[in-house]
Amino acid sequence: MRKPIIAGNWKMNNTPAEAKALIEELIPLVKDAKCDVVVCPTYVCLETVKKLIAGTNIKIGAQNMHWEEKGAFTGEISPKMLVAMGMDYVILGHSERRQYFAETDETVNKKTLAAVAHNLIPIICVGETLEQREAGVTADLVRTQTKAALKGLTAEQVKDVVIAYEPVWAIGTGRTATSADANEVIGIIRKAVEEDFGGEAAGAVRIQYGGSMNPGNATELMGMPEIDGGLIGGASLKAVDFSKVVNY
Ligand code: PEP
Repeated sequence: MRKPIIAGNWKMNNTPAEAKALIEELIPLVKDAKCDVVVCPTYVCLETVKKLIAGTNIKIGAQNMHWEEKGAFTGEISPKMLVAMGMDYVILGHSERRQYFAETDETVNKKTLAAVAHNLIPIICVGETLEQREAGVTADLVRTQTKAALKGLTAEQVKDVVIAYEPVWAIGTGRTATSADANEVIGIIRKAVEEDFGGEAAGAVRIQYGGSMNPGNATELMGMPEIDGGLIGGASLKAVDFSKVVNY
């Protein structure tokens, strides 16, 4: 049985003071969650939030990282630094990173390998744009992104990574994939994992849905057999909304 995992991607929101208020409100609301609960604040809020979640059931991740340990990469943060800060997870290859910061399947793969080598659990995002969906290439695209991201890992390592299927047209738009659609594409992603790493790894890897998931649609989405959790953007910025998704 795969344990569901719900993660909040705060994106470029919240000052440390705002992050403090949000996490303090969230902690009691999710304390009895049956799923794994993760929050991903901006780098500048990681230390504040990490201290406040000590002793709770909430885990923490960053929203991105570089693949090198250190060096002349102005503005970047390394896996070693995230580990030193006590991070558990790191989101990699979010569509906003791919779209606005020129991330490619190759850089996402380098980051995935680096994360796993440092015992950080990557939440690897894959998903098609509206044009790609309308052109009928969704299956090919998510298969390619998934296989490229995981290349070089062992089957044993793949079991512990998290993949997030996030159709780009559903992110921050209020449009959600139907639960049947999301389930089908996640099944395609799982099959791609099976082709490269075998049935055991494919059966263990957790695959989330992300894209305008909220208190109103979480129960239905989480009821689908292939959907192992959610990556939540907008609805993770309000403690009550996020807690409703977590307690779906
Ligand atoms: C996201 O950014 O990963 C996301 C799913 O955002 P939203 O929930 O706002 O669509």
